[in-house]
Amino acid sequence: MRNLAFAAAALLLSLSCASADSESWLISEEQEIQMGAEYHVQLLAEMPEYKGSAVVRNYVTEMGGAIALNSGRPNLPYHFTVVESDEVNAFAVMGGFVYVTTGLLKMAGSASEVATILAHELGHISARHGVRAMETYMIEQGLTSLLFKEGQTKELVTAALSTLTTLTFSKDQEREADSLGVQYAAATKWNPWGIVDFFNGLEVLGATSADPNSTLSKIGELFSTHPSNPERISNVSTELGQMGIGKDSPGYNYGRATEDASFANVKAILGG
Ligand SMILES: [Zn+2]
Repeated sequence: MRNLAFAAAALLLSLSCASADSESWLISEEQEIQMGAEYHVQLLAEMPEYKGSAVVRNYVTEMGGAIALNSGRPNLPYHFTVVESDEVNAFAVMGGFVYVTTGLLKMAGSASEVATILAHELGHISARHGVRAMETYMIEQGLTSLLFKEGQTKELVTAALSTLTTLTFSKDQEREADSLGVQYAAATKWNPWGIVDFFNGLEVLGATSADPNSTLSKIGELFSTHPSNPERISNVSTELGQMGIGKDSPGYNYGRATEDASFANVKAILGG
């Protein structure tokens, strides 16, 4: 009961100083970044970072960084990490942490597929989906008081990570990230139709994964069964129609291996 009352008081407090985005948040941006950094440490204890070629790592960092500048939160300190795994996956953690697997890089048929997936993940971060999931978790677990104690981030993230619910999103949040993602990719001059190519590739691949018990599989960002790939393709196609961007509109790059030496080099290094 005390925790609930405390949560209510905290919510009122944050409502009274709601920011310009007109939504209210318990977790400040500073706390979000601290939590993200803690998630990063704990996640990399469970899934190996790709330490191979710096060319591959820099490629993802530079591509992601450029898209982030066109995202809703260009000023966050972003970190792009390549995870060594044959599973095709990508995910985002609050505070600017984005992950993509070597399996996804190998599968991608063009640079725009990678770019639009990174942009989708940046959509989750811009809309603070992870933060909202964490707030819901803290309220449900009666843990909101930890926000006001120094040095409690580690304890909180350890508890949250044991359920993974703070890293998985609702159907509506996925739709919003798809929508924001195509806008960010287009603003960075990547052909946003790349995400449709990627979804089609996922349909062919099916929801297979090497190890269903791995943390990566459980997060399962891109394979979340809802909305379905056909629905996501339909939604994105409608949005791109409204934006007036066709599959062959000039000025938007697909970055296929035959025309993009950097992407071709990454594919060659990874053997995909
Ligand atoms: Zn997503």
